[in-house]
Amino acid sequence: MVTITPKTLDEALEFRSKERMIPFAGGTDLMVRRRSWSGTSPHFEYPVLFIGKLPELKKIAVAAEDNILAIGAGVSLTELLEHPEVPEILKQAIRVMASPAIRNLATLGGNICNSSPAADTLPPLTVLSATLVLQNTASRREVPVVEFIKGPGHNDLKTDELLTAIHIPVVKNNFYFYKKVGTRKADALSKVSFAGLAQTSDEIITEIKIAIGAVAPRVVSSVEAEAFLKGKPISDLPKLLPELKQMYEEYIRPIDDQRSSAAYRKEVSFRLMEHFITQLK
Ligand SMILES: Cc1cc2nc3c(=O)[nH]c(=O)nc-3n(C[C@H](O)[C@H](O)[C@H](O)COP(=O)(O)OP(=O)(O)OC[C@H]3O[C@@H](n4cnc5c(N)ncnc54)[C@H](O)[C@@H]3O)c2cc1C
Repeated sequence: MVTITPKTLDEALEFRSKERMIPFAGGTDLMVRRRSWSGTSPHFEYPVLFIGKLPELKKIAVAAEDNILAIGAGVSLTELLEHPEVPEILKQAIRVMASPAIRNLATLGGNICNSSPAADTLPPLTVLSATLVLQNTASRREVPVVEFIKGPGHNDLKTDELLTAIHIPVVKNNFYFYKKVGTRKADALSKVSFAGLAQTSDEIITEIKIAIGAVAPRVVSSVEAEAFLKGKPISDLPKLLPELKQMYEEYIRPIDDQRSSAAYRKEVSFRLMEHFITQLK
């Protein structure tokens, strides 16, 4: 396995512009995906670009002028848990991911770029309206996380780009709910995960976001359903529930696999949705 270890982000992007390489951050997805059952080294068809220690990707900062929390793509899950500015809903998802040892290595950028339907940071990042900063040597673009993921293992990253940062608008939500349903409390992949954020004022919903993971090729969210809920009195929510479920029906398309059945995943998704909206105050 050929490994390139750039010292700066510019150097990394330069390497990436010259030939096809595989970015390697914490390696916790890559080393499993590329493992060789015969006990020999994992197989990488292109040189490995080690970006796990690049200082530019290790920063967390709030840009006061535009009220954006900027998280470097190479920040580990443990570092996120320890930072006071990281939104609690994202921390809740991270606390139930993998184990402490894996969280010390695993990065936020790696979880996003692996683009698994069961990636646990994606539902919180979706409700937080996160955008992703993608850079090559010549340019920089920013795309919403919901547009970046194209399907299981597929995303909008170009072969000369790196994900360099995750931007999260700093907004005060007065209600959030996160739940991961797995086989165990720790070190288990999601059967379903649910993230909900809301702002209410005088018992009216002024803002609401819902995202459900592991029940479709991409995280399920619906702008129409969220618009339908906005402006509604909280007391009306129980009676609006059947209509709301109907709006998500076509998007929640789980599969049967070794972790769970499609029917269970769908039922649990709707129960979590009901729990979220009936807890709003
Ligand atoms: C035992 C175990 C338990 C786990 N449990 C969970 C869990 O509960 N929930 C969950 O969601 N995941 C889980 N995972 C998966 C994994 O730990 C996470 O997805 C992790 O965040 C991946 O980060 P990484 O830095 O290790 O990624 P890597 O393995 O380094 O990379 C993953 C992918 O992203 C690409 N990549 C990484 N960084 C960048 C970048 N900056 N720019 C462009 N491309 C990039 C790589 O090329 C690769 O394709 C688990 C893994 C293991 C081994």
